[in-house]
Amino acid sequence: MPKIQQLSPHVADLIAAGEVVERPASAAKELVENAIDAGAKNITVELQNGGMTFLRVTDDGCGMSAEDAETAFLRHATSKLRTAADLEAIHTLGFRGEALAAISAVSHIDLMTKTADSAFGTGLHLDAGVVTERDSVGCPDGTTIIVRDLFYNTPARMKFMKRDTVEASALVSAVSRLAIAHPEVSVRVIRDGEEVLRTPGDGKLYSAVYAVLGRQNAQEMVEVNSRWESYALTGYVSKPSATRGNRANQLFFVNGRHVRSKTMTAALEEAYRNQLMVGRFPSCVLHLTLPEHLVDVNVHPAKVEVKFLNERDLFDCVRYGVEGALETASGRVQMKLPQQRQEERPAAPKPTVSASKVSSPDAFFRTMSAEDYKAFAQVVREAPRPQMTPELKAALERNKKTAAPVQKPETPQPAPIAKEDAAPAVQEELPLETQSYRIVGEVLNTYIIVEEGKNVLLIDKHAAHERILFEKLRSAETTVVPQLLLTPILCKPEWEEAAMLLENADLLRAAGFELSDYGDGVLAVRQIPADLAPEDAEATLNELAADLKAGKRADPTAMRDAILHTVACKAAIKGGWRSDEKEIAALVKEVLSRDDLKYCPHGRPITAVLTAAQLERQFKRA
Ligand code: ADP
Ligand code: MG
Repeated sequence: MPKIQQLSPHVADLIAAGEVVERPASAAKELVENAIDAGAKNITVELQNGGMTFLRVTDDGCGMSAEDAETAFLRHATSKLRTAADLEAIHTLGFRGEALAAISAVSHIDLMTKTADSAFGTGLHLDAGVVTERDSVGCPDGTTIIVRDLFYNTPARMKFMKRDTVEASALVSAVSRLAIAHPEVSVRVIRDGEEVLRTPGDGKLYSAVYAVLGRQNAQEMVEVNSRWESYALTGYVSKPSATRGNRANQLFFVNGRHVRSKTMTAALEEAYRNQLMVGRFPSCVLHLTLPEHLVDVNVHPAKVEVKFLNERDLFDCVRYGVEGALETASGRVQMKLPQQRQEERPAAPKPTVSASKVSSPDAFFRTMSAEDYKAFAQVVREAPRPQMTPELKAALERNKKTAAPVQKPETPQPAPIAKEDAAPAVQEELPLETQSYRIVGEVLNTYIIVEEGKNVLLIDKHAAHERILFEKLRSAETTVVPQLLLTPILCKPEWEEAAMLLENADLLRAAGFELSDYGDGVLAVRQIPADLAPEDAEATLNELAADLKAGKRADPTAMRDAILHTVACKAAIKGGWRSDEKEIAALVKEVLSRDDLKYCPHGRPITAVLTAAQLERQFKRA
């Protein structure tokens, strides 16, 4: 064995530097954090070549005295921590006193800094962590630090750097996260001479989100604002209809610090359960504030991971907070009407006929004649009353429960326990309908138009039916009602997909499918869900195989839901198909009487609303 020796401080510094400063983005993060800790109101970050050759951070914070400026570059030199007890409650972003030492060990640095109460500032130059020049300089209050040629003396590390564009975007993301965490600070980023980010620093989270995620994303988010015991959760989450193919826009902050937390990610996604397609992810900017003793921020060199005392509380807080916000946000998407500009408006024709004589010149506005409507209403009224069978009784009971307005607590609570005995007694007679809406008709064989109070609703019949079927399938606790096929359907998926289906035969059985290996890569399907038409079976199985492949590691409940999504989608009436009036009436009734029908299982909205006010504005009546 070779002799053990203690590392020289220089080598130790290089190793430590590798932990804190992984790439230009991590250097920028540390420098901007220092500026925020120094109370800066304005911070500018400039970078060239992805921050590899040039990185400058300018702030208008408290600055440093000449003496402090030099001490700051020593290892474990910090103004933010004095005693071990201080570690229990950290109010600043930095506290380890390592960043400046680490960054300077692997670069050339120029520093200019001035406090408000001194006439002159201090200028320092460092090479590989050693001060080589010091001056008294004239400069504004605050600090400017320039880092050149990062990793110039650690060629091994240099090799790991990616293309400039990759490093640059990692750097901009890192600074963006800090900008979102601190809406009270105005943050600018200038990449190779071009401004790529500017937050206003007006203290409003929405402004920062808008600047960082862009107008489109910001407008598709709903506000979260909930408290639970000593936890407060605020921020924005995307509507189920505005999701992404990855988790890049999921930003979590704990006490003002950006963190990665599996628990928070899982809780967020749980809140969207069954509203998203497999492989789609919600976006969020969520700030959690909790007492400092419930979280340990000192478990990771770059401080992106933190430890929570109680992960379960954390999960519930995020999940119910987000769920509440999604429920409050109306599931009915308001339609956007294009605003006609004055000069483009055709001159309004003078009314020439009296109201009683209106004979519409074209059929455009006539979706259903009065005669047709009367006949239709008759059909609905005379539809045979269902007999009170035990199944119907049970269904009615279930329906009542779902239709009853759910009393949402202000603050998120652990899942409420349903009080069985509080349910209303089943009535023997079906109550007479007092309908508060009017079905106007269907257009484009896809959208049902309904008048409800002062609103015009457009219901996407496929999305609605899909959701209703999905909820029905899902409420069957263990298995879906199957239909046995007289002649089995033979289908021949790709090899890998056939294997996937056979491997998951149990899951598929619970969803109503019974299939077996027919040899030669052919599958024999003997049983399918009752809601599915036999001719759709093969296509459904192909989609299921793709789902199974995509979600190999997903948990069985999620997989079951994915299977049911596919079945519901295939079994639902399609947009473009003609539906009869009874079908439409039944669909509308379901949609309007239940409040869980906001999105189809793929996250598309079911209902769009046109308000009377909107129409009045559009036609310049208001
Ligand atoms: P830490 O932030 O963990 O204290 P750093 O190495 O990042 O460690 O910084 C060391 C010290 O230098 C800080 O505690 C702070 O007092 C001072 N400092 C660093 N950057 C700035 C700045 N931009 N403005 C004022 N003081 C700063
Ligand atoms: Mg620091």
